[in-house]
Amino acid sequence: MQDRESEHTAPEGAVCAEHHDRPASFTCPRCGNYACIFCWHSVSQRCDACLKRDPAAAAPPLAWETREGSVLSRFFRTLASAFRPVQSAPAFARPSLRPAIAFFVLSAVPLAALAGVIPNTKTLMFGSAFAVTVQGHPTASQIALDVALAMLLQLASFALDFAALALPFASLVQAYTPEALRPAALRVLLYRSWLAPCATLLFFLGLWMLPGGSAPNEPTQLLSVLIVLQFVMNALLLIAMRATARLACGIGALLSFVVVAVPLVVCTIAQVFVARLLGGAGS
Ligand SMILES: [Zn+2]
Ligand SMILES: [Zn+2]
Repeated sequence: MQDRESEHTAPEGAVCAEHHDRPASFTCPRCGNYACIFCWHSVSQRCDACLKRDPAAAAPPLAWETREGSVLSRFFRTLASAFRPVQSAPAFARPSLRPAIAFFVLSAVPLAALAGVIPNTKTLMFGSAFAVTVQGHPTASQIALDVALAMLLQLASFALDFAALALPFASLVQAYTPEALRPAALRVLLYRSWLAPCATLLFFLGLWMLPGGSAPNEPTQLLSVLIVLQFVMNALLLIAMRATARLACGIGALLSFVVVAVPLVVCTIAQVFVARLLGGAGS
């Protein structure tokens, strides 16, 4: 990256094409304009104006939307691209929702269902060190029904979280973005929403995996690793949303934080509300 950057260094004394009071650091290889550090996107190696003019050209399409390799390889490469949230963000500036919905159904939906098994199942107790104990004397079909209900409950809660993020995010992005770039808001959520249920699933799997009381220090260390992991995966989703608002929808640097912060607050309030409702119903 350093070498590519130095290729585009602006000549001595040049000023930014957008900000005439700022010295230019780069020359855009696309339009030839000088750009200051605020107007330069190092990830896509072009100036702000060029990125906004054609964000889709700044990033290769997601593996899922290409024809290279098997479906499985495209699926996993698209999952992996979530760990490069900024670099992959301009790829959401494409119009089609259909492949995004298919990816969502294959990634986020099954993960959300699976994430419900350990915390919500009442007939099975998932103890430490992979122990599973049956509570009471349920029949096999009662257990199956209980597991199915546990999955459905988690799916419903995921659907609510998704709606609480997607509705305010899409409407805020819509307010500041030309029509052609608006699908990017939904596309990023459809492609990246698997991160949240996957974090929940890993968290409960980790708890289940934890050794029992014999090693008192180990569990707390592992527990903090699990908590950090969950935080990082949820943060990746928010970073992807912010980078998409900025790089695929052309929303300003500061405003792009706002269009993510508002849905995050709405989603958190919805979660607290549901937790109270469920807590109230349980007692
Ligand atoms: Zn340019
Ligand atoms: Zn500038």
